[in-house]
Amino acid sequence: MKKDDCIFCKIANGSIPSKTLYEDEQFRVILDMGPAAKGHALILPKEHFANLYELPEEWCGKAFCLAKKMAEQMTQKLDCDGFNLVQNNGETAGQTVFHFHIHMIPRYQEDGQKIGWKPLSPTPEELEAVRAQICG
Ligand code: AMP
Ligand code: ZN
Repeated sequence: MKKDDCIFCKIANGSIPSKTLYEDEQFRVILDMGPAAKGHALILPKEHFANLYELPEEWCGKAFCLAKKMAEQMTQKLDCDGFNLVQNNGETAGQTVFHFHIHMIPRYQEDGQKIGWKPLSPTPEELEAVRAQICG
């Protein structure tokens, strides 16, 4: 299904032009218009899924294989030093466009970017409590 008012549905299906790096029947890979680094790309499914929770399993597998293929090609062509994959789900987690996408961010020494978090310092008991909460 496509969603009429979704910009990534329109981009993925070609009704809004984009800088396309790759396309097949299910996915389009485009350059992000606000890149964190040179070559920052987005993997977009052509069907509308708001986030990872909605993405069917068979699409998950294909999306990750495509990420690997693109990472290899982009690393070779851009000569980057590493790669971050980022995938935000929900406003609290930083999602701003509510159509599933994977950020592919090539990293270069001295690129000045910081993609990370401030580590907490849980006690062993706190770690066990959260493990039990998730698995219980
Ligand atoms: P997120 O915050 O994970 O939802 O990421 C949304 C990303 O989409 C941001 O990095 C934006 O720069 C990018 N973006 C939004 N609109 C467009 C567009 N029309 N073309 C390319 N990238 C876009
Ligand atoms: Zn959409």
